[in-house]
Parts: sequence; C-alpha cells; structure tokens
Amino acid sequence: VAEVTGLTKRFGDRTVLDGLDLTVGRGEFVALLGRSGSGKSTLLRVLAGLDDDVEGRADVTGTVSVAFQQPRLLPWRKVWRNVVLGLRQDGVAKSRNRALADKALAEVHLAEHADDWPLTLSGGEAQRVSLARALVREPDLLLLDEPFGALDALTRISVHGLVQDLWRRHGPGVLLVTHDVDEALRLADRVLVLDGGRIVAGHRPRGADHDDLRRRVLADLGVTE
Ligand code: ATP
Ligand code: MG
Repeated sequence: VAEVTGLTKRFGDRTVLDGLDLTVGRGEFVALLGRSGSGKSTLLRVLAGLDDDVEGRADVTGTVSVAFQQPRLLPWRKVWRNVVLGLRQDGVAKSRNRALADKALAEVHLAEHADDWPLTLSGGEAQRVSLARALVREPDLLLLDEPFGALDALTRISVHGLVQDLWRRHGPGVLLVTHDVDEALRLADRVLVLDGGRIVAGHRPRGADHDDLRRRVLADLGVTE
C-alpha cells in the first residue's frame, strides 16, 4: 500500500531523509525505530500527504489515517464528533456519522464516552479516541506516530492488544513509529531502523529469539547495553 523510493527531504541545507526506500505491503505491520531527530515523523508526514516538497517517490494507494502522539482532539466537539472529523472528506453521508462513531468507539472500548467532552477524558482514553478517529475511515494504510507514548505500562499493554486485534480484523498496512524496541518486536512483522536518512536495518521478529534480536536492534541504533 505504500512504496517509497529514493525519498529525499531537506530543510534548508539539512538533509533529513536521504534517498530512502521503504515498502509497506497490504496488511503488513511495520515498526520504525530511529533516534530522536532521525526523520521518522517527517517520513510519516510525507506518506500522509502533508508534505510534498520532496524529491523521489512516495506512492500510497487508498485511504491513509494518521494517529499522532498528541491526540489533538477538538475540545469544543464531543468525543463522537471528534471521531468522525475525517469522514466528510471521504464523502461519507452525514447521516451515518453517529453510527460509525459509536462502532469505532466500541472497538476501542469507549462506547460509554461518546457524548463526553474531550477534556474530561484521561490521557489513555484520549489516545484511544485518536485511534478510533484513525480507524473509522477504514484506512488502507494506518500511520501511528508514537501513539502510545503517554500511556502507563499497563494501559499500553492493553492498547497493544487492541491495536493488534483491530489490525487482524481490518487488515490495513500499519507503519508504527516507536521508541520502544520491545513494543516494535512484539507487534510488528518487520522492524526497520532509520539512521542517516535511510533504512539501515530490517528484522523479522516473528519466531526469532526476542532477546537476541533486541540486542541486534539496539546495536543498529548505536546503543550498547
Ligand atoms: P523524534 O523521535 O524526536 O520524534 P523524529 O525522528 O520524528 O524525532 P523529525 O520530527 O522527523 O524527527 O525531524 C527530523 C529532523 O528534521 C529534526 O532535526 C528536525 O529538527 C527537522 N525538522 C522537522 N520539521 C522541520 C521543519 N518544519 N523545519 C525545519 N526542520 C525541521
Ligand atoms: Mg517524531
């Protein structure tokens, strides 16, 4: 669903992405790791169509949804209205909004919060609303930029389960940006490391020895334990 070739992104004379190649297949779950400032969010913005001032190609087929680290809910709209914000541009009839919002909220276990105001939600609830907002569009490509960062360890684990479950049932391609190596290894089919503007390593965690792979990924990131 996403095919990136030779993608170069410069800010002034600073080259952040430098001829990057990447594919995310239909229904594939890919995790992207990289040091702070390595260009992960920049890459997601390009894939989401929010930045087209680039060289090279970034082809995406179908609908793309993004969930950012900060949920960015509009405080003056009730939770369910936040969930359906993107549907208008997808050409979905307004009359279907409430039903679609309720269904998406039920999937992230927030059905009873549909009529709440965003500011009354906990941080984890707000992140799940953001996830519902991304999922309600039934995207072909789901871009997740550290969407679990603000969650405590326990909520994180339950949201991991949720994302994996939703991914299995809906089958979008997923590109998950995370700082958490264990999270990447647990969730993804493929774990990629971004460094110097390119993908410098790729690993397939399924069936691999977790501890061994963890050490290799950390080495790719330039970290020695
Ligand atoms: P983090 O893990 O901290 O979120 P990141 O890998 O997502 O980091 P990016 O946000 O993609 O990093 O930023 C990559 C580099 O590009 C950074 O050095 C940043 O300062 C720079 N950058 C990003 N956006 C802009 C911009 N609009 N103008 C100038 N520089 C920018
Ligand atoms: Mg970032």
